[in-house]
Amino acid sequence: MLKAVFPGSFDPPTLGHLNIIERASYIFDELVVVVAENRQKKYLFSAEERVGMIQELVKSRENVSVGVCDFLIVEFMNQHNLNLLVRGVRGVDDFSYEFELSMMNRTLNSKIETIFMTTDPAYFVLRSSAIKELASFHGDVSGMVPPLVGEALKRKYSY
Ligand code: ADP
Repeated sequence: MLKAVFPGSFDPPTLGHLNIIERASYIFDELVVVVAENRQKKYLFSAEERVGMIQELVKSRENVSVGVCDFLIVEFMNQHNLNLLVRGVRGVDDFSYEFELSMMNRTLNSKIETIFMTTDPAYFVLRSSAIKELASFHGDVSGMVPPLVGEALKRKYSY
């Protein structure tokens, strides 16, 4: 039984995140999308809002569930007896960051296997931070996020 976690900020979830979720859900028997709640970070959407959006977006996928974690993901994985961690990579910049992160996680728990999934070419420019910036200027983000996220961004930025 292959059960993996896909952790991230998902602030907000994008079509790039969804593409990784969809593809990972075909590879693994179960996938837990874990929304990170890091008190040091400033999010546009609360953890509840991010969890709610992802739950809605994955509701037709029976083997995908959504969790939230306000401590180290390695701890979360220990608690749930999980050792497969999925991360998406858009390019070499992502990879060098993700590589270091995976080394750190393995130092904390040598059983953790990080599996890198390359982005789909259609989504490689999608980044939550850039999408928020575009939405803050009332730009059109409809090709970058699912409609319910687009609506949520419009409500946040009042347009
Ligand atoms: P974090 O703040 O942990 O980097 P993100 O929400 O930005 O969280 O991303 C979560 C994961 O999804 C990361 O592994 C990131 O590389 C991946 N990801 C983000 N956007 C894309 C995309 N467009 N294509 C593929 N993977 C992506």
